[in-house]
Amino acid sequence: MMGRINIDSIGWLLFLALSGFFLLAGNGGSLSNIDMNVIGEYSEILLPDTSERVIVFRHDDIGPEWSDDSAIYITEIFRKRNVVHVISVVPTNIGGMKLYEDPVIADYLRSIKDDESIEFALHGYDHSFHEFEDIALDGSSNSAMYKITDGSRILEDVVGAAPVSFVPPYGVYNDNTLAAMKSGGSMNIMSSCPYDVNKGRAFGKVDGIMYLPATVFLYDWEGDHPNSADEIIGSCEYTLGEFGACVITLHHHKFLDSRGNMDPEKVQVLIDVIEWAKSKEEDGEARIVRLKDIFDEDLL
Ligand SMILES: [Zn+2]
Repeated sequence: MMGRINIDSIGWLLFLALSGFFLLAGNGGSLSNIDMNVIGEYSEILLPDTSERVIVFRHDDIGPEWSDDSAIYITEIFRKRNVVHVISVVPTNIGGMKLYEDPVIADYLRSIKDDESIEFALHGYDHSFHEFEDIALDGSSNSAMYKITDGSRILEDVVGAAPVSFVPPYGVYNDNTLAAMKSGGSMNIMSSCPYDVNKGRAFGKVDGIMYLPATVFLYDWEGDHPNSADEIIGSCEYTLGEFGACVITLHHHKFLDSRGNMDPEKVQVLIDVIEWAKSKEEDGEARIVRLKDIFDEDLL
C-alpha cells in the first residue's frame, strides 16, 4: 500500500510547477507571473463568464484496501459538518481486488450511497502509474473503454449509480480517455490537475466534456509536506477570483502520522479550510458544490 503512495508522489512531480503557481499566485502573485514556457503547450486561458463562484472538495484514493480507516475518517469529517463533497473511488487495486471484495470500504460506501451531499467519481481503474496517459481506446483489458466501462460498473454495483465525473490518476490522460468517457461510460466531467489550465480548456465545456481540474492540493507533493491552511485558502481565493472556481483536492492517507494514526494537526488544516469555505457560503460569496452540480446547473 505504501508503495502506491510513493508512486503517487513521483507522479505528481510533473506538474508541481503548476500547483506551485497556484499557491504562489494565491499569496500575492498574478496570472502574468506564470511562466508557461516551461510547459510548452500553453494556449491563452479563456476566463469564464462566471455566473456563480463555486468551491469543490475532491477527496481522492478511496479504493479496496487503501487505508480504509483514514478514507472513512476523512469522509466523516465532511458528513458530520454537512459539507458537500466528491469522493473519487478507485474500483480495483493493482492486485486485481475489486471494490466489493473489500467489505470494510464497500459496506461503508453502501451505507452512505444515498447521501445527497456526496458525488461518487471514478478515479481511474487500478491507479497504476500514469494509468491513462498513453492508453489505447479499446481492444484489451488495458484499454480506456474496458477500464472506464468496467470501473463504472463496479462503482455502480456498490453505490447504485454510475459515475459522471472522471478523475484520472496522477492527473494525466489522453484523447482516448475522453472518447471512452463519452461512449463507454457516458461521463461528461474531467477533473484532472492544473495541466488543463495550460491547455486553455479549464472551467468550461469543450465538445461535451466539462473540465474542472484540481486547483490546490492539501498536500505539497514536491516538498513532501502538508500545505498550511493559509496557503490553501490563499490559493482558493486567487482561483475563485480568476476562474470562479476552486477545486480543493485531498488524499486521506496523507493525514496519517508516522505510526499510521490520524494526525490531529493535519486534520485541523482540513477543518480550517472547510470552515473557510462554509463562511464564504454563509456570506453569499460562493457555493460549495459537487462537480456534477457545476455541469448540471451550468454554474461556470
Ligand atoms: Zn489518486
